[in-house]
Amino acid sequence: MPFPLPDALASIPHRRDVPFARLTTLGVGGICRWLFEPVSVAQAQAFVRACAREGLAWRMLGGGSNLVVLGDVDLALRLRFPEEPRRAGLELEAPASFGHIKLSLAAADLGLAGLEYASGIPGSVGGAMHMNAGAYGRELVDVLARYQFLTAEGELVEKAPEPGEFRYRWSVLGGGRVALGLTVRLAEGDPDRIRALVEDYRRRRGTSQPLHKRNAGCIFKNPPGQSAGRLIDQAGLKGLRVGDAEVSPDHGNFLVNHGAATAAQFAELMALVRTRVREAHGVELEPEVEIWAATDMITR
Ligand SMILES: Cc1cc2nc3c(=O)[nH]c(=O)nc-3n(C[C@H](O)[C@H](O)[C@H](O)COP(=O)(O)OP(=O)(O)OC[C@H]3O[C@@H](n4cnc5c(N)ncnc54)[C@H](O)[C@@H]3O)c2cc1C
Repeated sequence: MPFPLPDALASIPHRRDVPFARLTTLGVGGICRWLFEPVSVAQAQAFVRACAREGLAWRMLGGGSNLVVLGDVDLALRLRFPEEPRRAGLELEAPASFGHIKLSLAAADLGLAGLEYASGIPGSVGGAMHMNAGAYGRELVDVLARYQFLTAEGELVEKAPEPGEFRYRWSVLGGGRVALGLTVRLAEGDPDRIRALVEDYRRRRGTSQPLHKRNAGCIFKNPPGQSAGRLIDQAGLKGLRVGDAEVSPDHGNFLVNHGAATAAQFAELMALVRTRVREAHGVELEPEVEIWAATDMITR
């Protein structure tokens, strides 16, 4: 990262040397040397365009709830748009930086049904768009009416989702694109019933997931027709520990940080789990979390 900053970046709010332990739910990782936090679409666009022009490599950060960061990152972007969700009839519009759980709860308060499944999925709306986040047989694309994003060159696009753009924990919003916001189309519902469903989903998570310890949600994708958590459990790996990183005794597909874990310990534990599951079941587990290593930065 050149210093002084290119002029186009200097006026965008930014911070220096922020530890990823503070930017991610797992609480590990190196340092984010420059964290840019635009408060408007125009600032986000200026960032993307300047990076494209200068050939700067950068990372897109949301709520950090699906990340294992292995080292330092020179340059990252995190949206801080101040807008709140806006209702228009059965549609709800929200900026990408808004909290995903907060959006689900806002919909419930408004008596709009369809986002209850999201009431326990942390992170930002933008991260949920990128990941096509989902639970209980539902996922974001099921309710997505329109979405806005910047291309890797900084061009602003607004469109309705098309087939193939959102799949299981994948979307077109990778490769340097920046999700800016969305509009979800929901259904009229009885507020009491919506809230009861939200409570039910949250209770189920509270009893099955180790939410009292720092974690990054499910670490491995479910192999087709199988449960990664069950495979890990059947391989006898619950409670397996490397330093302060542990396979949760409560849920095999959650790795938890007991407080002083390092990224290297999580990397070692994930590798160990994959090896043991391969040996026990002949199944190759693929990470559901995104792993940030210094070598695969987005460069334009
Ligand atoms: C306790 C717990 C439970 C969880 N349960 C679930 C679950 O049930 N279902 C599920 O799907 N996930 C679950 N997750 C994983 C995680 O919450 C989701 O994947 C979430 O949508 C990630 O959002 P984020 O903002 O934290 O993204 P981050 O972790 O910050 O980033 C994830 C990816 O999204 C990209 N990204 C972030 N913001 C943007 C943007 N504005 N534009 C483009 N790309 C962007 C990042 O570059 C990165 O590639 C869980 C996690 C935890 C900790």
